[in-house]
Amino acid sequence: MSGSISGGGFAQEFGYSRARERRHPRSAAQPATMPTESMFEELKRYVRFDSEDETRLRELSTLAEPHVESIVESFYARVVEHSEAVAVVRGGQEQISRLKRTLQAWLRSCLTGPWDEHYFEERARIGRVHVRIQLPQQYNFTAMALVRERLVLVALEDDAPDAVTAARVRAINRLLDLELAIILHTYSEDYRAQLQRRERLATFGQMTSTIGHELRNPLGVIESSAYLLRRKLGTEPALRRHVDKIRAQVSRSNRIIGSMLDIVRDRPPHVLPVAAPLLAERAAASLLEELGFGVELLIEPDLPRVLVDAAQIEQVLSNLLINAVEAIGAEGRVRLEVVPGRDGRVELRVSDSGPGVDATLIPRLFEPLVTTKDSGVGLGLAFCRKVVDAHGGELALAKPDDLGGARFIVRLPVAPL
Ligand code: ADP
Repeated sequence: MSGSISGGGFAQEFGYSRARERRHPRSAAQPATMPTESMFEELKRYVRFDSEDETRLRELSTLAEPHVESIVESFYARVVEHSEAVAVVRGGQEQISRLKRTLQAWLRSCLTGPWDEHYFEERARIGRVHVRIQLPQQYNFTAMALVRERLVLVALEDDAPDAVTAARVRAINRLLDLELAIILHTYSEDYRAQLQRRERLATFGQMTSTIGHELRNPLGVIESSAYLLRRKLGTEPALRRHVDKIRAQVSRSNRIIGSMLDIVRDRPPHVLPVAAPLLAERAAASLLEELGFGVELLIEPDLPRVLVDAAQIEQVLSNLLINAVEAIGAEGRVRLEVVPGRDGRVELRVSDSGPGVDATLIPRLFEPLVTTKDSGVGLGLAFCRKVVDAHGGELALAKPDDLGGARFIVRLPVAPL
């Protein structure tokens, strides 16, 4: 997601650039060399936020200080009333205390400024956190309405002359409109990034299925010719070795094409109730067979059955396990756990003692064609994500356990009793 704050974007986004030109004819007279206005400056000009507002807000900051904690408390009381908003606060009481402290700091800086580019960037950063945790947009409005109500009350309770009170209330309104505009900007930034990602995937899908189908025929011809050649070669060992290499590489190419097509094809899962430990045991057994590697299997008793397409989920587990084995190098440990998860779900966890996922990769980890391996294709995790999503489950990279390397968690829905 881009954090750019170039001028003009906000106006384009919200379609009022014409109105702005009309209200600010001076822009037509600006010399061509004039530095472009940053998005924040443009926003401030749009809501008419000026130095008088800054003065009024600073006056209010002293008046509001005794109320900061109680405003934040009522804000969270409101959050708790809304289950959808609470759902995104997953870290329990400790996280709520941390969020309250952040909100207090936010409120104080709203009233003291300075209202500069750093201020904008800090708000945009908080907005992006809201986007990442998928806070429904309407909560930004209801939360801001509550802060507005309380600050206006602070302004009204002070016995300043009416004109001063009116100026303070106007400053509060302009300030909170600015705050909302910044938040909306971060949501629309995310929306555009999602659209771009979707477009890229659609192009990727079309190309993949055309190329994949086209390559299958020539590979089939190579495969059968290599097979016939091998039979004709008799016992000539050096030549047979070469033909075997050709056949091995052809089947590798077929596997790559197969997984590319798996990603682009929409194959809805045929779900049935299955015992999750069975899936784990089968994936562990096939890893032992294919790579000769034994994983540590930990299964908790009395787990409910999961509602899945067993073949697809086994493929997901195999991909995660193969990645783990590749990550640990010559020696190390890989663990596969099956445990009860949040919300009555069942979790399958794959962890390893390797170096962990490269931090620069994390934001795009589940996108196709992301790989750090010389012979990698970067489709394994994209496939896993697609399959798990189609099951209504979740696939996430989690904090390491005691093995210290990467840890992936697959959360699966359970079958009704
Ligand atoms: P590929 O294995 O072809 O690279 P994947 O989509 O399966 O494709 O993985 C993408 C990238 O994610 C890998 O290249 C690797 O950098 C990283 N990755 C995946 N699993 C692990 C892991 N267990 N430990 C460290 N990095 C990992």
